[in-house]
Amino acid sequence: MPDLNKKSNKVVIIATIVTGLLLFATIFAYLLANQTNHGIKLKAQKSTDNTSEQKLVAATISLAGSDKKQQSNQNSTEPSQIELSAVLEKSEKTIIQEASTNDTIETKSIKSTSEETTSSETEQNSPQNDDYKYIALTFDDGPYHDIDLKVLDLLTEHDGHATFFVLGSRIDGDFETIKAVIEQGSELGNHSFSHADLAKLNYDQIMAEINLTNAKIQEYTGVVPTLIRPPYGSYNEQVLAALPYPIMIWDHDTIDWLTQDAEQISERLEETLPGSVVLMHSMYPETLAALEQTLPKLYEQGYRFVTVSELYHIYGVDLVPHGRHSSPADELGR
Ligand SMILES: [Zn+2]
Repeated sequence: MPDLNKKSNKVVIIATIVTGLLLFATIFAYLLANQTNHGIKLKAQKSTDNTSEQKLVAATISLAGSDKKQQSNQNSTEPSQIELSAVLEKSEKTIIQEASTNDTIETKSIKSTSEETTSSETEQNSPQNDDYKYIALTFDDGPYHDIDLKVLDLLTEHDGHATFFVLGSRIDGDFETIKAVIEQGSELGNHSFSHADLAKLNYDQIMAEINLTNAKIQEYTGVVPTLIRPPYGSYNEQVLAALPYPIMIWDHDTIDWLTQDAEQISERLEETLPGSVVLMHSMYPETLAALEQTLPKLYEQGYRFVTVSELYHIYGVDLVPHGRHSSPADELGR
């Protein structure tokens, strides 16, 4: 029976090899099915979920739960390891990109909402509001810190600004005041250096009066004034031709220089009309007293206090170099 024994041995060996191969094939199929599962699940979740956050959660669940489902997926098409890595990598990139896109959209949306809010707030607070009556208070002959600084405080309390036409000869001794004018948001103008009557000067003298003063103002504040108020309101053709700036007179004089009386100055102030440029002076305590009394009343009546430049801008009237100006309302014929 040696042949029979040999045959039995061969059968056993073949059976063992076949069994081994089958076992190997089963393990191989199991491993491949497990890998395939990841790719399929990621793809499926990607197409159905709405937000990238949900996708990330779903992908994690899919990866964690794939072991339990391996039996039913054994016959799936088997992508190679390289393809699988590519799918995983692509999914992550897509998720990251989509997440960042969503973030961008949300940021833009928040931004545009806040811009809309800001612009509507600006419109509400805009000085273009037709309900207000705008005037430009002007103060000549300063700086006088005792009075000017209190005037600035009063203006600030009433959300206002003014224009201060200063003398170059006074600036070195009171430069803190002109700096305070600029810091408060008010405007500086040029009232000559020595309070000279410009109509009585020659060209060189006129230019010296104006340029020296502008240089002093620039030295302390960095600002170069563009408005000239000639002392006494006095000018002639030569003055207009010489100075490449608007010559700013006024259309409403409180005559504080004449009366030096708070009650009378107040009465004159209350007669101010919208769009007026109002003449006052820095050196009289009575002018300050009149303002303390009258500014709150005018504010209550809807008056708002702006610089000369702002007033012309509000009225849409250009300030012209070599030109003579009184007030935008006056120039428009009221
Ligand atoms: Zn003056």
